[in-house]
Amino acid sequence: MAGSTVISNAENVRAQHPSAALCCAAKYMDLDQRGKVMAEYIWIDAVGGVRSKTRTLSKPVTSVDELPEWNFDGSSTGQAPGDNSDVYIRPVAFFPDPFRKGDNILVLCETWDSDGTPNKFNHRHEAARLMETHASEEFWFGLEQEYTLLDTDGWPYGWPKGGFPGAQGPYYCGVGTGKVYCRDIVEAHYKACLYAGIAISGINAEVMPAQWEFQVGPCQGIELGDQLWMARFLLHRVAEEFGVRISFHPKPIPGDWNGAGLHSNVSTKSMREEGGMKVIESAMKKLEARHFEHIAVYGEGNEERLTGRHETGSIDKFSYGVADRGGSIRIPRQVAKDGKGYFEDRSPASNADPYQITGIIVETLCGGV
Ligand code: ADP
Ligand code: MN
Ligand code: MN
Ligand code: MN
Repeated sequence: MAGSTVISNAENVRAQHPSAALCCAAKYMDLDQRGKVMAEYIWIDAVGGVRSKTRTLSKPVTSVDELPEWNFDGSSTGQAPGDNSDVYIRPVAFFPDPFRKGDNILVLCETWDSDGTPNKFNHRHEAARLMETHASEEFWFGLEQEYTLLDTDGWPYGWPKGGFPGAQGPYYCGVGTGKVYCRDIVEAHYKACLYAGIAISGINAEVMPAQWEFQVGPCQGIELGDQLWMARFLLHRVAEEFGVRISFHPKPIPGDWNGAGLHSNVSTKSMREEGGMKVIESAMKKLEARHFEHIAVYGEGNEERLTGRHETGSIDKFSYGVADRGGSIRIPRQVAKDGKGYFEDRSPASNADPYQITGIIVETLCGGV
């Protein structure tokens, strides 16, 4: 009805709060599924986001091989042309679903084109190949995912509208009103990750207000990318229920506000063993030689963040040091003391693809075969 002011009950409830509508939906959620399983197929899209759709399976799943290949319309996601639009999604890992619970699952997929080659945005395939070739090195990765929570208007959540909060200082690991924002969402995401079996190793509030970090790892090889992508999916999905947007932009607010990174902690078996410091030092030389190849896949807009200020190194110069948070790579003080352990590559931006980061690190340290 044109010009009608009548709005439905559902719209009414949503207008009050997005999660209020979910409370109404809750009474349907424990209805019996009659043995069927809901499988949420998730894939990475053309702009570093995630997409997903659900299919019903006839019984609970115990192995990834039992999950059928599926497809989607790639012309609707910028992943294929309209005249050849089918993109195939192949399950590579599955996780308990913290939203639907029970036997329902989240299914992480690789994207493949109809000619049998990996989709342009499928960086997992090549990374997995490299990791398999160099499996004897036993690479471990632990990534620190920083991100910013935004209101629906795109301004950081909790910031004065059209204005700024007080200067940075009280917010990092902050506790108390005015020092920390969105703890409810962060806690919900943390629990959702644990339920799903993600190796989330911690969380902390960041230097810029409304910015947080979670860490995933250490995980071996390709598993790090799988788990981090699933943790990103869970974050978007949880925040959706609170009407809050997640930004992985490396410099969401220009000026004297910290950017967001994806610090990547790395070790191999020989780095973790006695005398490992020598192996770490030789890794520094290899990384220095390929600095710009790494920067090329360490995220878009990273030049706004890697300025040499705000605890970053400069984008056009490789440097490393013990306990140095202003270099490309930091060797933790404890590692230098023990003479073995791991190093932290501080260059990757928060929006980088963890498959590309971990893939190129293996390639650089082991040679590209
Ligand atoms: P920071 O002091 O840089 O904020 P965090 O505590 O946030 O450090 O993250 C450090 C990460 O290092 C942890 O999440 C962990 O996964 C990872 N890590 C620890 N030991 C190793 C290791 N031997 N190899 C690879 N990653 C490791
Ligand atoms: Mn950290
Ligand atoms: Mn951090
Ligand atoms: Mn760090």
